[in-house]
Amino acid sequence: MAVTSHASIKSRDVVSTLADRWPLLGQRRWLVAYFCFIVALDLAAIVWFWTSTVFQWKDALTFGALMGCGAVCIEATRRLGMPAGVSRDLLSAWWLPVALLLPPVYALFAPIVLQVLLQLRVRATMLYRRVFSSAAIGLAGCTASVTFHGFVEHPWELSRGSGPPILIAVASAVIFSLLNIGLIAIAAHMANPDAAWREVLWDRESMLLDIVELCLGVTVSIACGINLGLLIFTLPPVVLLQRSLLHAQLQAAARTDAKTGLLNAAAWQREADTEIGRARSTGDSLALLIIDIDHFKRVNDAHGHLVGDQVLVGVASMLRSQLREYDVVGRFGGEEFAVLLPGADTDEARRVAERLRVRIARMAIPVEDTLVRVTISTGVALMGVHGDDLIDLLAAADLALYRAKELGRDRVCIPAVQPPRALPNDPSTP
Ligand code: GH3
Ligand code: MG
Ligand code: MG
Repeated sequence: MAVTSHASIKSRDVVSTLADRWPLLGQRRWLVAYFCFIVALDLAAIVWFWTSTVFQWKDALTFGALMGCGAVCIEATRRLGMPAGVSRDLLSAWWLPVALLLPPVYALFAPIVLQVLLQLRVRATMLYRRVFSSAAIGLAGCTASVTFHGFVEHPWELSRGSGPPILIAVASAVIFSLLNIGLIAIAAHMANPDAAWREVLWDRESMLLDIVELCLGVTVSIACGINLGLLIFTLPPVVLLQRSLLHAQLQAAARTDAKTGLLNAAAWQREADTEIGRARSTGDSLALLIIDIDHFKRVNDAHGHLVGDQVLVGVASMLRSQLREYDVVGRFGGEEFAVLLPGADTDEARRVAERLRVRIARMAIPVEDTLVRVTISTGVALMGVHGDDLIDLLAAADLALYRAKELGRDRVCIPAVQPPRALPNDPSTP
């Protein structure tokens, strides 16, 4: 996979986690040491391979053409914009041919060229991220290059169409991808030791993208080996794929709350409206919870905003982990969350809200040398009991939340529904 991409995708986790934690790096010396080690290794590899490479104009021309394609790709998609932190791309379609067809030193330089372009033309981000990404991609590319050249004497054999060089190219591309994922995952794990390895390594979606990148990279390498001019035919489909990939990422980012990864308020309301319409037409029950962290201002005041943010992330992931896949969970405002439970009646809504309350009260978020604990208050409203549309349900749940706060916080409140009082002259009154 494109190392690039991998670096970039996984750097979504790394980047967002590091962005949150960078100021706390006093205690994170190991992470800084790891960054420095990878960058130093990359520099040492550049010096080593630079001195042992015989310069050839043909190689320089191929490198220039592939980097030119990468630049066109970046320019053709940059107007779409790029969601903060998320930058999965298909640049490895150009990096992989550099690693397979050229001496390893070029694989070390390729990411530097494209990361500089990304920094200048797409998104100016913290420089250390670019430097680390370049080093991780460069080292992965260099290893793939050394592997391929170790087995295939003349790289242009790849374009003759015989099986073994193509298989070795695929194996080298896999090494490229795995190494890049590994280098990034170590950083992600160091930045957030609580995250499971599986979580920082990959998910199904990014694995699919890795396979697409691998296929693109090997195909472009073969075409490029036949004739450099064939790059002209490979460029449009790669650009198109890259644009649709970015488009999908931007769409996802527009629905998501960047801090917690839950739905943002607008997306939550859209989804909640759809679920409520469905429940109204089928007659199914449905419940709405509004959850507010108690005395959250005190957390900020005592430990600072960054720790407050970590608490928000912790609460959000606890909510997500305790709810079903089809429950609609969103961040509604600062420290307020909204949950829609399709199919839940009063008993189930109360049970779920109580479980969330207990789990969050038991949760302890490690901060420096102490543990931060918070509680939540929850207001519950039920479809058909407290209202029939989103506005009524939100108003009822909000009122119940207010009551929960009034009663002392750390509790769940469901508004009591008064039975309709009989009017004195009502003829239906017995
Ligand atoms: P209550 O129990 O009545 O809800 O008290 P509270 O302190 O939680 O409520 P209040 O509305 O007084 O304060 C909410 C605080 O949440 C104030 C605001 O600074 C903080 N906050 C809102 N959004 C964020 C955020 O994204 N990050 C952090 N760290 N704090 C936030
Ligand atoms: Mg609060
Ligand atoms: Mg609040």
